[in-house]
Amino acid sequence: MVGKPRITVIGAGAFGGWTALFLLRRGAQVVLLDAWGPGNSRSSSGGETRVLRCTYGPNQPYSRMAARATRLWKEHEERWGRQLVHRTGVLWMARAGSDEFERGSLHCLREASVAYEELSVGEITKRWPQINMEGVGWGIYEPEAGCLLARMACQTVLDGFRAEGGEYKQDAVLPSDLERGAKDGLSLADGSKLAADQYVFACGPWMGKLFPDTIGDKIRSTKQDVFFFGTPAGDARFSEENLPAWADHSDPFIYGIPGNQGRGFKIADDSRGYEFDPDLGERFVSMEALKKLREYLGFRFPAMRNAPLLETRVCQYENTPDRHFIIDRHPEEANIWLVGGGSKHGPALGEMIAELVMQGRDPDPLFRLARFGT
Ligand SMILES: Cc1cc2nc3c(=O)[nH]c(=O)nc-3n(C[C@H](O)[C@H](O)[C@H](O)COP(=O)(O)OP(=O)(O)OC[C@H]3O[C@@H](n4cnc5c(N)ncnc54)[C@H](O)[C@@H]3O)c2cc1C
Repeated sequence: MVGKPRITVIGAGAFGGWTALFLLRRGAQVVLLDAWGPGNSRSSSGGETRVLRCTYGPNQPYSRMAARATRLWKEHEERWGRQLVHRTGVLWMARAGSDEFERGSLHCLREASVAYEELSVGEITKRWPQINMEGVGWGIYEPEAGCLLARMACQTVLDGFRAEGGEYKQDAVLPSDLERGAKDGLSLADGSKLAADQYVFACGPWMGKLFPDTIGDKIRSTKQDVFFFGTPAGDARFSEENLPAWADHSDPFIYGIPGNQGRGFKIADDSRGYEFDPDLGERFVSMEALKKLREYLGFRFPAMRNAPLLETRVCQYENTPDRHFIIDRHPEEANIWLVGGGSKHGPALGEMIAELVMQGRDPDPLFRLARFGT
């Protein structure tokens, strides 16, 4: 194994799993670590489903990245013989008169060669009469978008990584003094040390705990409640065959995913919740949020009025102050990479991060820590 760079990736979520896989393919000897396993219920990737879309507003690199991620998911579904993305389409509902985000998205969608339709309220109502379009001005429909089986996807990426020769270890890196580097390796919870030439920390909402000085509250973890409601018996209007994943971009911003492998009609408010500790936070949904979403559900999907609540989830967003990713080297320790603040662009991100790490190149300034003035 002489000559192969030894790289340890910490965190097997959406960011870390794919980064480890692409580093392996670029010729590194890779160890992937995770404290509780890929897509575990504490992690931000640990939900059943996530919306996979390319509509991200004006002047941003995410439409292109999401388009690349969508292609890579497809390639890997074929490669692994497993469906991970349900191509339900995504309907983005814009408010008349405050639709800069959507207007600005169209140019980026075209640039990224993403298939989309601009739909009037009439056209949306014709296609999906089960949606009450009151207050909506128009919509963007991405037919090739949909929802990702998030937890399963993380586990499948790990299987692929191992099948290609990667080493996985379920263990936790102790946060002891990581700010001063890992000269004699990482200290693990099992008492052992793990040494490598380079380290990529992709620990999502834990990044601030592991690097309190360098990251600290530059990645804030917020509580996000998710609800699954029961659809009427035998009523296929709310199945993924007959309704796309959707986003109602008003205030609050509510989104939902039909189907969910029989779990029911998923709905959630995108507004950031209060600060949440991914280790110790108790994962109860708020009754107030439930009441609000029930009212909304009855308004936007009248046939779902009084629908029973079947399941709930509590997860956490990891937000950076400007909502852009963090992809950068540690300011003092050049062989430590810090990546997070994200979303489900996993494969495209992993591909990009692996290239940066293996070629020792600088990341896009948009993702660098220097933008926070540190
Ligand atoms: C409710 C909700 C809905 C969302 N919806 C969408 C959506 O529709 N579309 C979208 O694109 N994105 C969505 N996101 C965001 C997206 O899911 C996350 O941004 C993404 O999953 C983050 O992945 P990650 O790998 O950075 O973090 P994580 O998945 O949290 O992975 C970090 C991993 O690090 C491990 N770890 C932590 N500390 C240690 C340690 N000391 N040692 C070893 N391992 C450690 C953890 O076990 C964990 O597995 C949503 C998020 C939430 C919470």
